[in-house]
Amino acid sequence: MFKNEKINIAIFTILVVLQLLGVVAVWTRFHFFYLPIMAVLYLWIGLGTTLYLHRYLTHRGFEMPGWLKFIFATGSAIGLSGDPVTWVGDHRFHHLKSDTEEDIHSPRHGFPYAHMMWLIRKPASFRERSLRYAADVRKIWYCKLWENSALYVLPHLAVASLLFVTLGLAGMLWCLYVPILIIYNCTWAVNSICHMKQFGYRSFETSDESKNNFWVGLGALGEGYHNNHHAKPRCAAHGLKWWEFDFTRYTIWTLEKLHLAWNVVWPEPAAAGKETEELSADEAGTMLITSADPNSVL
Ligand SMILES: [Zn+2]
Ligand SMILES: [Zn+2]
Repeated sequence: MFKNEKINIAIFTILVVLQLLGVVAVWTRFHFFYLPIMAVLYLWIGLGTTLYLHRYLTHRGFEMPGWLKFIFATGSAIGLSGDPVTWVGDHRFHHLKSDTEEDIHSPRHGFPYAHMMWLIRKPASFRERSLRYAADVRKIWYCKLWENSALYVLPHLAVASLLFVTLGLAGMLWCLYVPILIIYNCTWAVNSICHMKQFGYRSFETSDESKNNFWVGLGALGEGYHNNHHAKPRCAAHGLKWWEFDFTRYTIWTLEKLHLAWNVVWPEPAAAGKETEELSADEAGTMLITSADPNSVL
């Protein structure tokens, strides 16, 4: 089992250092003009994962122009979110084996594994599996190039250097590494928190343990409605009810209106209504605040 695999010290160190850079920022001087830069990088890096790697590249929930794909893909590389071939391969396997022994980021192996440890203790077959399940992604020239770690880190280093030269150390830490720290933990929470019985609620009876969680959805740009997503993996929307805030969905909707996205797989209102457990307004409100299963609270 993968828990017996050796820890990859290099990846462990990189992930810890990247997060520490975000933490130590609080001991440096903050300027309010950092905020818009932080917001832009948060959304660029965040959408690079949610909109590009996940909803577009893994599940092909819509189409968009090549130049736009490259812009979003670059966002994911700036955040060092994981090279696209590995990311897509792992995620498709997750949908296939959710919450089984083979799902290396299922909370059944413990919270630390589901959240971050799976990244640094992958089974020997991980790479080969990713290549098999993401063969289509390897045909995209920049995704193929980014399988080489030395090339993959270049967008990140370019942005970090630019911020360091223009805004100094504090500017680089606040504008780049604070957003990365938040995005990492919100994204990892989709694997960990959104597959834990204790948190969130289910709108669909899926074969896995996936849950919807408003707070994870807020930080992870809509990815927290993970039970909805497991029920309808190709759907470009993860938040299905009006209060299930899904920033990535609204972005794809806007792109569609601008004719920059097409063939979007939107939820079918009639089918969604039939398959979703209907909740009262009170139950919905409880879930917003506590993320709890309303049936266990009320
Ligand atoms: Zn999942
Ligand atoms: Zn998915």
